[in-house]
Amino acid sequence: MSTKFQVVDGWVRGARCCESPNFNQRPLQGDISLLVIHNISLPPGQFAGDDVERFFCNQLDFDSHPFYQEIRGVEVSAHLFIRRDGELVQFVSLDNRAWHAGMSEFEGRDQCNDFSIGIELEGTDSQSYTDQQYQVLSVLTQAIQHAYPEISAERITGHSDIAPGRKTDPGEAFDWLRYRSSLK
Ligand SMILES: [Zn+2]
Repeated sequence: MSTKFQVVDGWVRGARCCESPNFNQRPLQGDISLLVIHNISLPPGQFAGDDVERFFCNQLDFDSHPFYQEIRGVEVSAHLFIRRDGELVQFVSLDNRAWHAGMSEFEGRDQCNDFSIGIELEGTDSQSYTDQQYQVLSVLTQAIQHAYPEISAERITGHSDIAPGRKTDPGEAFDWLRYRSSLK
């Protein structure tokens, strides 16, 4: 697999586009200096179907699964989503503020959505991510770092690190060493 991505005007060439309304402008335009890794699967632990995309686009049928009562009416979206097979989906321009981190803090600065890019991996905290996901995440991260050089290696973090006690993703299943060592 030889994946190549390029960020052009906030959109990743090579990603499938699925535009979400769950974003707004960043308070400081161009202030993009943090990358946040998440996981999500809907229903939790199930990797078939398109319910994550529906959820991020406010088109999920909340009556279609009992778990969805817990997220009924919630309006969120990451910028990007990497499916189990490595397919990349983009919901929000990287130049805009996607609603992915919620209450959060990184190195003394809160409201991480203001200055971060959020990537969701399709998965759970405890199930190994796929080789395709690591491969795509690595190439994607390097393309993002090229476009937004303030995102240094030290400014790549997990949702659980910026919202401790509230969030656990990407979980113990995520191999940070493998990911970090894959970045040039
Ligand atoms: Zn998260």
